Amino acid sequence: MTVAYVSHSDCGRHDTGWKHPEHVGRLRAIPRALRNDFDLFDTIEHREGRHATAEEIGLAHDAAYVEQVRALAEAGGGRLDGDTVVSEGSWDAATAGAGCVLDAIDWAFDGSVVRSFCAVRPPGHHALRAAGMGFCLFGNIGIGALYARARHAAARVLIVDWDVHHGNGTQDLVQHEPGIRFVSMHQSPWYPGSGAADDRGPRGTIWNVPMAPDLVPQVYVDALLAAVDAATAQWTPDLVLVSAGFDCLAGDPLGGFTLELEHIEALTRALVTRAEAWCGGRMVTALEGGYDPVRLGDACVTHLRALR
Ligand SMILES: [Zn+2]
Repeated sequence: MTVAYVSHSDCGRHDTGWKHPEHVGRLRAIPRALRNDFDLFDTIEHREGRHATAEEIGLAHDAAYVEQVRALAEAGGGRLDGDTVVSEGSWDAATAGAGCVLDAIDWAFDGSVVRSFCAVRPPGHHALRAAGMGFCLFGNIGIGALYARARHAAARVLIVDWDVHHGNGTQDLVQHEPGIRFVSMHQSPWYPGSGAADDRGPRGTIWNVPMAPDLVPQVYVDALLAAVDAATAQWTPDLVLVSAGFDCLAGDPLGGFTLELEHIEALTRALVTRAEAWCGGRMVTALEGGYDPVRLGDACVTHLRALR
């Protein structure tokens, strides 16, 4: 089973500064951890993704917002909100982040690489249709879901988000699309404040799973998988996309969940098993949060091992 580790050197050019929790050291920690696992390092395929085009990003975002990000980066950078930085390299980073996901989706459908993990930044799941938010510029996974529908005629795309924060941006990008279902488990109450269980979206295609912090970790695993199974009852996905935020791990500075590496492994394997039954195993996962770089590196290694 070929699994790809997909990234792009431009993702390191999104310069938020070292005092920002979403700094470039997060991404550097992943190959560092991977190199310590010789067996895994040799058996996965290392691929560099492409840049998404403005038109592809426009599948999910307003053209005027896409142009705003491009122009701000070209002018040297600035801020979209108090947390969300655009630097000179951010356009190249953000289009590379989305492009890695789109390439991985192309490979999943042409059969060359059935499963991929995209180590990308900036993250994406808070980015709204017409605004950046919460460290996120473009909704990499939301764009991917809409691209899979448009480019590969995928009838049904499932998105699973286990980042500790609600994927409000992803919900905003996909909630009007009947062929996309979105399952998000997140701490509540917590940033960004949305994602109540009774918010099912305008078409009933959203499964929000708000959870208290500090619970026994298996409770989170069971709750997320129960929602995945509810979302896929009599509805068989053609592709599984995962917003893999590792700020759900115990000790993360920006979250209060309690998951350990074994729970990342369990969640990954449970989704792989389901994807094998649904759609030949097609699954593309992309990094979202995770703000303890060493833990993040270890979690990505665990996640990649479980994707095989
Ligand atoms: Zn997060």
